[in-house]
Amino acid sequence: MNERGATGLESVQQRIRQAEADAGKPAGSVRLVAVSKKQPVARIEAVLAAGHRTFGENRVQEAEARWPSLAERFAGLELHLVGPLQGNKVRPAVELFDCIESLDRPRLARRIADAIQSLGRAPRLFVQVNTGAEAQKSGVMPGAADPFIATCREEYGLAIDGLMSIPPIAANASAHFSLLAGIAERNGIAGLSMGMSADFEAAIRLGATHVRVGTAVFGSRDSSPANSASPGTTSV
Ligand SMILES: *Cc1c(COP(=O)(O)O)cnc(C)c1O
Repeated sequence: MNERGATGLESVQQRIRQAEADAGKPAGSVRLVAVSKKQPVARIEAVLAAGHRTFGENRVQEAEARWPSLAERFAGLELHLVGPLQGNKVRPAVELFDCIESLDRPRLARRIADAIQSLGRAPRLFVQVNTGAEAQKSGVMPGAADPFIATCREEYGLAIDGLMSIPPIAANASAHFSLLAGIAERNGIAGLSMGMSADFEAAIRLGATHVRVGTAVFGSRDSSPANSASPGTTSV
């Protein structure tokens, strides 16, 4: 059993409690989504053993490979999809995830609505907003967010529970958090998924209800597939 995961979890939880207090929010009101993508299963098990139950993955296939068996051993899991969702992965995503944070186009909204209808299971939905208007990044453009949210609600009958964004690297993240919070407010949306390892405290000050934290909880990700099978190795 790898101890790093549990140790990182404790320190991130303490920092979240402090940020909640600084922002005048009730303790425990911000949800930690522990992003376990590309992490060895032993680290995930350590975090589960410490009692944490809310996790994020960015690929449907990777999540399908590990979470169904973990769900048999650990009750009460809440899984969030935080990565882009392809049309052909919608059905498995609706079956597996409790929250899909990357809804960003009308075609996807229609497919999700169809899958919810036919599977009889409705994950919560967050609309991803590309606050930095970056060409390579998913998410609806900030100027198109209001009409897209209206389309999701009115045309496809989807409840939109939150907004999510991934600010550009090296940008002043706070400006992006404020932009996202403004879009949520004027559309009557309560959930705000923003803030990662480097900036989750700033995000909480600006209204985050969910923070998506990977490396600060688990340690750094080993991106080489050859090494990802050995849970004991860490490359911090
Ligand atoms: C990987 C990832 C995170 C976590 O990033 P860290 O910097 O490791 O905390 C958060 N959100 C999304 C969408 C991600 O893909």
